[in-house]
Amino acid sequence: MISYSKALDIIQAEFGKLNLKTEQIDLVGSVNRILAEDVISDINLPPFDNSAMDGFAIKFNEGIKRWKIIGEIPAGNFNNFNIDNNSAVSIMTGSKLPKDCDTVIPVEDTEVKDDFAYLKPGARFAHGINTRKIGEDLSKGKNAIPIFTLLKPHHIAVAASCGRSTLKVFKRLRIGVLATGDELVDIHETPTGDKIRCSNLYAMISAIRNLNMHSVNFGIAKDSKQLIYDRLKWAFESEPDILLTTGGVSFGKFDYVKEVFEQLGVETKFWQVKIKPGKPVFFGTYKHSQGLTLVFGLPGNPVSSLVNFLLFVQQNIQTMYRIPLNPKYRTILEEDLKKEDSKRHFMRGVCRYESDGKFYARKIGSQSSGNLAEMGKANCLIIVEEDRMNPAKGETVECIMI
Ligand code: AMP
Ligand code: MG
Repeated sequence: MISYSKALDIIQAEFGKLNLKTEQIDLVGSVNRILAEDVISDINLPPFDNSAMDGFAIKFNEGIKRWKIIGEIPAGNFNNFNIDNNSAVSIMTGSKLPKDCDTVIPVEDTEVKDDFAYLKPGARFAHGINTRKIGEDLSKGKNAIPIFTLLKPHHIAVAASCGRSTLKVFKRLRIGVLATGDELVDIHETPTGDKIRCSNLYAMISAIRNLNMHSVNFGIAKDSKQLIYDRLKWAFESEPDILLTTGGVSFGKFDYVKEVFEQLGVETKFWQVKIKPGKPVFFGTYKHSQGLTLVFGLPGNPVSSLVNFLLFVQQNIQTMYRIPLNPKYRTILEEDLKKEDSKRHFMRGVCRYESDGKFYARKIGSQSSGNLAEMGKANCLIIVEEDRMNPAKGETVECIMI
């Protein structure tokens, strides 16, 4: 059994060997993907000086508040007017400004009478107001979106303005999932006798998709060495970046997963970590023609496998792709916690922010790693370090949001 920090070091080192591959994809398809290039602007944004309001374009002069309207410029239909201190052009939002215009008076700040626009008393009047300058948003040749940006719709808008119909993004990791257990039936079946529905497969697949990675469902294998062997062999042949199994990695008589990993050539990196929940976790690597598969044998308890996933898989993927990690807060305990062993505990809890500017945390009712529905009430994991026993109400603990 190894410590949590040692386990993290070993896993991090192997994640470092996974290659970040790239692909060129359709602009809108790249939303929520990670950009693998700098997007450089091919034009100035805006490309010309223009009006920020519907109004009247003028040449500013402090003493003049009445202008003769000499024409109009709809957006996209420029017409250059020669303007002097006493004339104005009716202009729309986004319309290019005539050469000598430097200021726009909004429609609502004017009164129009007999081809003249008058500034309303009290209206704001200053040089340059309501205009947008060429390149003020982005100048040509500048980095509009840096590499490693998690692309959101507003980034897609910027890329579109830069004339990009495709973007280079990092390929998603392919992550296979296999559940094991004789007791498991799939979700469309009603379990009878001593069977239960297999929830882990769906928890893992959704956790993978939640990171916008690519999941591959290898289904459920019964607790038979041969069946697990066949299914894992098939899974490894597809050369995934990561393979997750759930169940069958503890000390039970029918826990064959580790043994089969070894038969198939998986190099064991560790088995069992001093944490709760999730102690029986196995980690190894499998070499294939394209590189490496990182292999995680997660315990079957639904809470354990989810906590293991967050700590060992998710945080490393987030780091690898530079996706922000789940927030961590220092919180004040609202109740005593029971912890009497030297493992590192990740207790399911509720963390909330109070008007006094502090975060407070309490645990949810049951800490049993079999109680999945209870976990649904939690929004964080309360971390209680190895050497810390029975932290008391009022003490400070760290929480990771989930
Ligand atoms: P194991 O790690 O195989 O000893 O399983 C530990 C516990 O998790 C047992 O109570 C199993 O029934 C349960 N379990 C294992 N796999 C799953 C699964 N895919 N979905 C829900 N519960 C599971
Ligand atoms: Mg089992």
